[in-house]
Amino acid sequence: MIDNIEQLRQAIEVERKYKYIDIQGRQCSFSSFIRRLARKHYNSSGKKPKWAVLLETFDNYPMASCIERKRAVDLLVKIIKSELEVKEEPKSDNKNFTPKNPSEVDVMYVKGVGPKIAYMLNKLGIYTANDLICYFPRKHIDYSSRTLISQLKEGESTTIFGYISSVSIYNSKKGLSITKVIVKDESGKLELTFFNAKANKFMQERMRSQFPQNAGIMLSGTVKKDSYTNKLTMDKPTYSIMTGEFLTAQNSNLNLARIVPIYTVCENLNIKVLRKAIFNALTTYKDFIVNIVPDEIRKRLGLMDKKDAVFQIHFPETMENLEHARFTLVFEELFLLQLKMARLRVQNSKEKAINLKIKEDGLVRRFIKSLPFELTGGQKRAVNEILTDLNSDTPLSRLLQGDVGSGKTVVACIMLLAAVENGFQGAFMAPTEILAQQHYNNLREWLTPLGLSVGLFLGSQGKRLREKFRTDLRNGQMNIAVGTHALIQEDVDFNNLGAIVVDEQHRFGVRQRNILKKKAASPQMLTMTATPIPRTLAMTVHGDLDLTIIDELPKGRLPIITSLTSSHGGVYKLMKKEIDAGRQAYVVYPLIDESETLSAKAATVEAEKLQKEIFPEYKIGLLHGKLKNDEKEQVMADFKDRKYDILVSTTVVEVGVDVPNATVMIIENAERFGLSQLHQLRGRVGRSSLQSYCVLISSSRTQETRERLNIMTQTNDGFVIAEKDLQLRGPGEFLGTRQSGLPDLIISDIVKDAKILEMARMEAIDFVKNNNLEDYPLLEKVTSLQMFSGLDI
Ligand code: ADP
Ligand code: MG
Repeated sequence: MIDNIEQLRQAIEVERKYKYIDIQGRQCSFSSFIRRLARKHYNSSGKKPKWAVLLETFDNYPMASCIERKRAVDLLVKIIKSELEVKEEPKSDNKNFTPKNPSEVDVMYVKGVGPKIAYMLNKLGIYTANDLICYFPRKHIDYSSRTLISQLKEGESTTIFGYISSVSIYNSKKGLSITKVIVKDESGKLELTFFNAKANKFMQERMRSQFPQNAGIMLSGTVKKDSYTNKLTMDKPTYSIMTGEFLTAQNSNLNLARIVPIYTVCENLNIKVLRKAIFNALTTYKDFIVNIVPDEIRKRLGLMDKKDAVFQIHFPETMENLEHARFTLVFEELFLLQLKMARLRVQNSKEKAINLKIKEDGLVRRFIKSLPFELTGGQKRAVNEILTDLNSDTPLSRLLQGDVGSGKTVVACIMLLAAVENGFQGAFMAPTEILAQQHYNNLREWLTPLGLSVGLFLGSQGKRLREKFRTDLRNGQMNIAVGTHALIQEDVDFNNLGAIVVDEQHRFGVRQRNILKKKAASPQMLTMTATPIPRTLAMTVHGDLDLTIIDELPKGRLPIITSLTSSHGGVYKLMKKEIDAGRQAYVVYPLIDESETLSAKAATVEAEKLQKEIFPEYKIGLLHGKLKNDEKEQVMADFKDRKYDILVSTTVVEVGVDVPNATVMIIENAERFGLSQLHQLRGRVGRSSLQSYCVLISSSRTQETRERLNIMTQTNDGFVIAEKDLQLRGPGEFLGTRQSGLPDLIISDIVKDAKILEMARMEAIDFVKNNNLEDYPLLEKVTSLQMFSGLDI
């Protein structure tokens, strides 16, 4: 048992919060704290291999990259969880042995495993018998149908039966031992070659004895052409000599003449051993595999029995069975996930909210009339959905997605005004000071004429100003507060907060959003994002929220012209032409090795070079993450005021910055960015009726990179790009490490299984509507909302 779990929990939380800096505690660093813990448990647990794996991982921690460190901490959490779940070792020599729940049994005690293999399994993230059962194959190879030798075709994976006609063994000049086996069946013969390390006479004899002449043999493998003889042969086949015993046990063979599961294995772990261990775990614990999806749904959708499904996903009898089993398990996994979401929604809707009503000649209507432009169709729809939500006694809980430049700020402002119109305050939280400042400027410009007061909360602002804003906010003189994280400080008190908007929501954690919510009398919260999230992903990660999409840009915007190049010549010409016409340009450099310091240096060097060698006549500003906040803001403000013609920047300029006069975006080393990020960067231009340009510079020649970057030149539609990005990088990379929230899916792939996801969602929503979960205790337990807490910090 782990003592002092609370201390450990806190250590993990802090390390995660500080983005894996191997934080220095009072006594030691995070990694040495974990190493000490691992060492202690390794010794006291009778050398359980999982602690050795942990120890090894954290030995490397100080030298590891940020992503590796994140993985290490995830592993730590998994091991701790398994430790908390595993109860005691089963005594397998006991005659009346009744198996325990496999999630409480250390994988070491599964028949055919033991400490050595457990060590390797642990490295694959398998700690309990249940982990082993749920270690689903990466793919399958169909060796189930027998082929006659005369009918073998190059490239096919199959099985042949025959007998051993002759064997010869000799050492090659290169020092290898070569075994040639000729197998015959009724249709022809096949020559097989096995290479081994150089062998002496004794070893050669042993090898020969493995292929007794005239014995039956069964071989599974992929057919290929031998490069010497130019005849067909089998590439590294799995074989078995057919003795009498084997012939009768044929059906239970896990490795050949059937559909064989292929697993991801690590070095030294023999896949046959893994198959056998999984098979044993399945057999021992089969009674613990029970249907969770309600019978009514299972029948209607024709799902397999779960026991069969788990068996068939590992060791399918036919390809149809495999398909059916996979559907069954994917559906269950996604159904449970969606059921959790549905339960969250139900819980949300039970919270009471104060009705916010809009009058015909009220503040909101007057504001919309006062705008210098008409709202686009998309904005109107979004406003309608929001106002309808506000005018009900369940709280608004909505995600507003709109491509860069689609005008989300106005929509946010309208929501906040709806609160003000009803005598409440509004809060608008943004992830960076630059953005908060920009929103503040916009809102002040729009709202001061209407006689409203807007305040700003930043970490870097002076004490006196902050004091004044705090007082105004507390006594209700301030109508709307804009700010960064500074808004959720303890000492910031609202008089009566009625509506919250969180911009670029993925930059904040759930906890931060909840702190703000707790400051409100009526928790109406709109979250916004400019990174369109494909529908399937949104359903998975934000399934508890309603979605609103603004799918058009303000009128008169010209599509940005995007090009891809490997040289700078044309780029400088374009910049010159635009700047001489009074426009401005961005030049963006990617993050180097995730280090803001290195990137800042690189950007500084480039800015100097650009100034000295290319554009001595222009004014060049520099923006990077190592500047202090007020310095950053000054640079941005100066760029907006056209004190600079060119802004050289690292990715800090990525989010939300609005300088309509900028028409050129140059992105260096474009191959280092994900598509969605490129789209975000590109969205910094094209923010007026002027024609804008984006140039992606990349010297990468790989086909894959070219194809990926070319997508950018073909479309300006953020949703199309997001969809592609998701397909190319998968959900984890797409969302990035900053935004976790992605559930651990064992078998489903939300890109490929989009249809099943959609189905599972409908079923889950229906189910909670028409049933009482208390009648389904198992379902209730596995989708319990508490599953979100615990070590999942
Ligand atoms: P984003 O959705 O990327 O946050 P913004 O809210 O910053 O977009 O809006 C981009 C620009 O478009 C701003 O300058 C804003 O004033 C302007 N804008 C917003 N809505 C409209 C509209 N309906 N017609 C014309 N311009 C608009
Ligand atoms: Mg914005």
